[in-house]
Amino acid sequence: MRIYLSADMEGVAGISSRELHLVPEGGQFAEARVLMTEEVNAAIGAAFDAGATYVLVNDSHGHMNNLLPSLLDPRAELSQGYPKPLYMMEGINEEFDGVFFIGYHAAIGTADGLLNHSYNSRGIYNVRVNGKTMSESMLNGRVAGHYGVPIAMIAGDAATIRQTQADAPGVRGAVVKWSYTRGATRALSPERARQVIAAAATDATRDLAAGKVKDMLMVETSPIVWEIDWVYTPMADLACLVPGVQRTGDRSIRFESPDYLTGFRAFQAIAIISYSV
Ligand SMILES: [Zn+2]
Repeated sequence: MRIYLSADMEGVAGISSRELHLVPEGGQFAEARVLMTEEVNAAIGAAFDAGATYVLVNDSHGHMNNLLPSLLDPRAELSQGYPKPLYMMEGINEEFDGVFFIGYHAAIGTADGLLNHSYNSRGIYNVRVNGKTMSESMLNGRVAGHYGVPIAMIAGDAATIRQTQADAPGVRGAVVKWSYTRGATRALSPERARQVIAAAATDATRDLAAGKVKDMLMVETSPIVWEIDWVYTPMADLACLVPGVQRTGDRSIRFESPDYLTGFRAFQAIAIISYSV
């Protein structure tokens, strides 16, 4: 039983502020790293107790050096650093049995989603795949789906769990906080949040062992249409430098991909280019 775990930071209990918690210069970044690492540990421990034999943890926030290696459950392996070509999903392949998302957040434009954004938080106003608005859990989940790997659980705020389960109802959800706005939240204590995550990870690992994966798989039918609306017009200008990208409006572009992984890689490239504006 091989588990792939992608860990973001915005959805961790006790984290509420980009300036204080999410960037290395933040006054509470050191504390945030501990909170993030211990939520990941809660999932790792429960997975091994329920029969997992291997867990790969991918540090998926910002420049991806947030988790504290010395504090991480020693049974897991850890991917860190930047760049990683598949970013939040680097290292996923068909040899995994299931995916856990920890610390995840809601899509850009979700009123009750703390720190809601979809990849480039300064640039992407909306991203759709085959006409459907995507959160990061949905975008990343389809990378796993490309390899036939189901999303077994997700932890984050209530809005994140709601969006993910609307897309794939079989995904186990661990709600660790409830957001009033993009900047304010009410959270479980870190200790209680870890208990909730461990319970979901136990159930999720048992689901995988029992083959209950039907409503956990996120897959798209090819060919796949990608559409991005940008905050600023030059981001659309730059995206159109990439072969195959078409302008569909002042701030909008589209492209098609023959399979999801190819499109996701193009999306990553375009999102990174847009940071230069
Ligand atoms: Zn993040």
